[in-house]
Amino acid sequence: MGGYCMVDIAGALAVLGQAIGIAKDLREIDRGLDAGEFKARMADLYGSLADVKMALADAQEELKAKDKAISELRGNFEKRAEMVERNGFKYEKAADGEPQGLPFCPRCEQNLGRFYRLAQTNGPRGTVKCPECKSDYTHVQGFNWR
Ligand SMILES: [Zn+2]
Repeated sequence: MGGYCMVDIAGALAVLGQAIGIAKDLREIDRGLDAGEFKARMADLYGSLADVKMALADAQEELKAKDKAISELRGNFEKRAEMVERNGFKYEKAADGEPQGLPFCPRCEQNLGRFYRLAQTNGPRGTVKCPECKSDYTHVQGFNWR
């Protein structure tokens, strides 16, 4: 989640203020203004408006990214409510309230706020690995799926 959205909007508003100032100058301008100066002011105006458009497009992208992050966090939050903890590991909760399958990686939950289910390795039963951070855990209890 980037934090520059507010800055982009503030920047867009500042440039928009300048553009409005230029437009106001042009409206109030004396008819005696020469064509070259008028053209230069118009070029300033177009340039300012193009900057505003770009800043708003950036801000829109940023808002989209934030929406995505929010829905992801909400999904994780809902997922957490459907879990049950055993020996410090979080498992998916079966219909009867008991844990089922292998637990999720506590390290990834801590560091990323995401849930990755640990996978049994070729080693002894209960020796599992996280598919994401590759952490190894031993003596991890697995429960039957129901
Ligand atoms: Zn992990």
